[in-house]
Amino acid sequence: MQNDIDFSKTPVHEIYGSNCFSDSEMRERLPKSIYKEVKAVQEGNKALTLAVAEVVASAMKDWAIDKGATHYTHWFQPLTGSTAEKHDSFISPIADGRVMMEFSGKELIKGEPDASSFPSGGLRATFEARGYTAWDTTSPAFVREDNSGITLCIPTAFVSYNGEALDKKVPLLRSMDALNAQTLRILKLLGVNAGRVTPTIGPEQEYFLVKKELHDQRSDLMLTGRTLFGAMPAKGQEMDDHYFGNIKEPAAAFMNELNYELWKLGISAKTQHNEVAPNQFELAPIFDSANVATDRNQLVMASMEKIAARHGMVALLHEKPFAGVNGSGKHNNWSMATDTGLNLLEPGDSPEGNAHFLLFLVSIIKAVDDYAALLRATASNSGNDHRLGANEAPPAIISIFLGEQLESILENLSEGKTVESASGELLEIGMTSLPDLPKDLTDRNRTSPFAFTGNKFEFRMVPSSASIAGPNTAINTAVAEVLSGFADRLEKASSVKTEIAEIIKETYKAHKRIIFNGNGYSDEWIEEAEKRGLPNIKSTIEAIPVYASKESVELFVKHGVFSREELESRVEIYLEAYSMQINVEAKIMIEMAEKQIYSAASSYGKAVSESILKAKDALAAFNTSAYEKTMMKLSDNINGLMEKVEELKALVDQAGCEEDVVSCASMFRNKVFAKMGELRGYGDALEEIVPKNEWPFPNYEDLLFRL
Ligand code: ADP
Ligand code: MG
Repeated sequence: MQNDIDFSKTPVHEIYGSNCFSDSEMRERLPKSIYKEVKAVQEGNKALTLAVAEVVASAMKDWAIDKGATHYTHWFQPLTGSTAEKHDSFISPIADGRVMMEFSGKELIKGEPDASSFPSGGLRATFEARGYTAWDTTSPAFVREDNSGITLCIPTAFVSYNGEALDKKVPLLRSMDALNAQTLRILKLLGVNAGRVTPTIGPEQEYFLVKKELHDQRSDLMLTGRTLFGAMPAKGQEMDDHYFGNIKEPAAAFMNELNYELWKLGISAKTQHNEVAPNQFELAPIFDSANVATDRNQLVMASMEKIAARHGMVALLHEKPFAGVNGSGKHNNWSMATDTGLNLLEPGDSPEGNAHFLLFLVSIIKAVDDYAALLRATASNSGNDHRLGANEAPPAIISIFLGEQLESILENLSEGKTVESASGELLEIGMTSLPDLPKDLTDRNRTSPFAFTGNKFEFRMVPSSASIAGPNTAINTAVAEVLSGFADRLEKASSVKTEIAEIIKETYKAHKRIIFNGNGYSDEWIEEAEKRGLPNIKSTIEAIPVYASKESVELFVKHGVFSREELESRVEIYLEAYSMQINVEAKIMIEMAEKQIYSAASSYGKAVSESILKAKDALAAFNTSAYEKTMMKLSDNINGLMEKVEELKALVDQAGCEEDVVSCASMFRNKVFAKMGELRGYGDALEEIVPKNEWPFPNYEDLLFRL
């Protein structure tokens, strides 16, 4: 279903949100009393009744049918990290051969997908394979148009019959409740009026585009999302206008249509070229509540893939499609807002504002320091291992960038020293205003994994292909925990004002080791961080088990976000996914090496040796040293390649993971993955010897500089 984008015919404001069953749509279509009930349910103040669901279902169905929908689906987010759905038709035959379009409240509230094919990490024994999906009233339904027709999609949570979370949404929603509860306690003590506090998220999404025709000639890209072989082109990241010019037009057409599709869903998006790597781009939406932002980020990724295909391209969401070129991530912008529209990380210019801001600021500093290892865990997958700790943004060590000014304010306050405020008076917590802080320091702190950018924090470790639910569940809960400690103290304090000042000073002092404004790539930082006692967790296999560490279990259980069993199931599922991914990559490497690289290199070798023989035949005195050198290099690398193939095969064969998931994943990381690196070395060396037109698949130059 190709869209002709002609904004003169249909202006943006008419398109915007047209495929989203938004709040305004609901208000228009529902009786006032029902609309009010739904709002109360969304705000967590009332339970949903079947009677209300019946009315909403009917309005939703009418709206969707007006849009041309024939089917509906419960759209959910299993632990694979992508989305899943089960389609049902609205059509219900009646006696006289005609049909009625039906959709009941029950069907809206609850669905029963065949749950047995989704990972549950032992949470759901097979005899009890059933799980169900439940309507998430806080995320708007939408219609999706594609080749299979028009479908009403209902965002849902996915739980087992025992109520265990089988997805990413349930823990996220629970963490939002925890953060809400603890922040409201604080706000009450501060005398700030609010009914609800919500974490707000703006996920910036990075991705690559490649020409589909080239992509489909490489089984590594097709099956693993990344190149397993590939020598660096002479021209690397630094691009010149000539190359850039080749990219511009097709990419612009893609972005245009992507924006348009996302606008229809009510997702306000701005796509742009990202200057870091050729053919790499970024999309930044306007922030939403954590839950809606998570759903929408999934839609953004799915839309990118769908629309790229319409343009003869493939959108690569993998964290590291190309070695030697910057990878992709998500910048997860995080803040908290009240339902009255107050951003709790906005410095504000009143004296009270200063105290409140500093209190929330230090709560995040403490949360990130206390749970650094957990945050690192939520940002791990096999793709991100190529980025974090591999001399690329950001490093594997979690630290916070505050900017010099804010750091010096906190430093001085915590030492009891004086700081001058905006108006020249001495800065005191809760007594004077903060000086104006520079916003948007993003260009000066690209290396920081957790940066304060004026009125929000930006967590930059998140993998580009992953759901943002995991990282945000952890941030929300960690901050909730710290705030609950603060609230305990403040509730007992004789003077809230004095206690706030005390908490700010103490907390900063105790956790300033996590603050680092310098270059996160430098070796000095790695040493310094070690001295400071900050964890440096190098890879997924070490990071994932942190989900079930003593500290994590205590944290999540206390706030009702995960049970111990749910956490253990995540460790199992994520490590298994890791092992499976490396296993697939290894097998594809073997196949490419044997069936493609070996045969191309050996036929070139044959041609070279024939040239030597022919030359010698013609005249024995001919100097064939260049040919001979090439031949030596070729045969050395061919032998090396095939040796490594054998070694890798043996490792993959033995990999049989009868033992526990941890040792299985370690074996894939330490043996299989390491061997893949050796094999790649020979493959890439051969690519540099064999002429381009005899190389069996498109090279980096083709992939990175054509579209
Ligand atoms: P950049 O990081 O490129 O300088 P922006 O300042 O425009 O970009 O913001 C990046 C992202 O941060 C956007 O998705 C934006 O909506 C989001 N953002 C802005 N304010 C907040 C907030 N209060 N909470 C969460 N995200 C926010
Ligand atoms: Mg940013």
